[in-house]
Amino acid sequence: MTFSRALRCRECGREYELKPIFSCEYCFGPLEVAYDYDGIHAAISRDSIERGPKTLWRYAELLPCDPAYKVDLGDGYTPLIKADRLAKAIGLDTLWVKNDTVNPTWSFKDRVVSVAIAKAREFGFSAIACASTGNLANSVSAHAAAAGMDCFVFIPDDLEQGKVVGSGIYNPTLVTVRGSYDDVNRLCTELSMEHPWAFVNINVRPYYAEGSRTLGFEVAEQLGWRAPDHIVAPMASGSMYTKIWKGLQEFHKVGLIDEPHTRMSGAQAEGCSPISTAYAHDTLNFVPQKPNTIARSLAIGNPADGYYALKQMQDTGGGAEMVTDDEVVEGIKLLAETEGIFAETAGGVTIGCLKKLVASGFIKRGEETVAIISGGGLKTVEAVADHLEEPLHVTPNAAAFNEAMRARQASLVGAGA
Ligand SMILES: *Cc1c(COP(=O)(O)O)cnc(C)c1O
Ligand SMILES: [Zn+2]
Repeated sequence: MTFSRALRCRECGREYELKPIFSCEYCFGPLEVAYDYDGIHAAISRDSIERGPKTLWRYAELLPCDPAYKVDLGDGYTPLIKADRLAKAIGLDTLWVKNDTVNPTWSFKDRVVSVAIAKAREFGFSAIACASTGNLANSVSAHAAAAGMDCFVFIPDDLEQGKVVGSGIYNPTLVTVRGSYDDVNRLCTELSMEHPWAFVNINVRPYYAEGSRTLGFEVAEQLGWRAPDHIVAPMASGSMYTKIWKGLQEFHKVGLIDEPHTRMSGAQAEGCSPISTAYAHDTLNFVPQKPNTIARSLAIGNPADGYYALKQMQDTGGGAEMVTDDEVVEGIKLLAETEGIFAETAGGVTIGCLKKLVASGFIKRGEETVAIISGGGLKTVEAVADHLEEPLHVTPNAAAFNEAMRARQASLVGAGA
């Protein structure tokens, strides 16, 4: 059972049958899933959702795939944590952290892959593939393994070890490409025309992208069926950032929440900031960049949804920020030290940008804010490993420990701490 009705061109509005296609034959605009919202309205309620599984499949009626084809690793329905210590540190009254580091493959990509692989199986594909900055490869590989599907994942050859091993362990055909993500994506677009594979972020991208809406659904449900004042989300292609807002609007359309007035802000790393740079220059037309940042998961120099992301900033009164790699590391540490959540570099980008948006007054102290933390820190250990306090090295006796503690305290006092 699905209430998805058609694919619709985001530019000219032409509609297409629900097939593995992704762009309009007339204007080459991207296709998006259209739904029968009246049907959804009649079929679901707050109660029916609350009785559902504690995964993203609690929103099955709002997803564009038949849940009979799902590959269920327990994806989604991650905690929304009230982050009082972090709020205090950066100057907000109320801050929540949406902790997507606890997904089955430790990133929000499990949301998009859940929908993409269900749809691919419904279409009858026996092989699944993707172009990835790392996390998508991890998630596709895991879900394909659980489904017993053939799997081909393509990644740039300079990714963090955690991301490479995090795919390899599931034994896909792992392909490392000498080039940037944008090169990988170009290669995969070409391959998608030659091979009968479901490329989750190419020929089934319209379905895949819908999975990110579950972040918006969950935030609203977990806040007690209402939207927050402000959301800060990381941006790579800009897809997740735009789909969170779509999810909030749809929750209103189907009668689950009041009309949302959430200001949506986006976060990027300076070393790959086509969207945030265009925002700073007050234009909807971004200039592609050659990425150079430790935030590899966000390193898309030519973002597919960049224009729509910039439009959304205008429409919602949100903004965009960017942070240096040093600020990314500081952001990771601040989140860990205040809230006990260890995020990957994308999380450092989000916290760093959030901090700047509050410091500049763009987010007011009284705005209830949600920060989207989209991936787990053990995937990018090398980003922070050299920035932590040295452990105390001791021989196994109490006197040695006590002496090491005295020396540590003396050095802290000496440093004026
Ligand atoms: C893929 C990814 C994002 C966002 O990607 P979009 O292309 O903008 O949807 C954010 N955080 C992490 C950790 C990711 O892997
Ligand atoms: Zn069109």
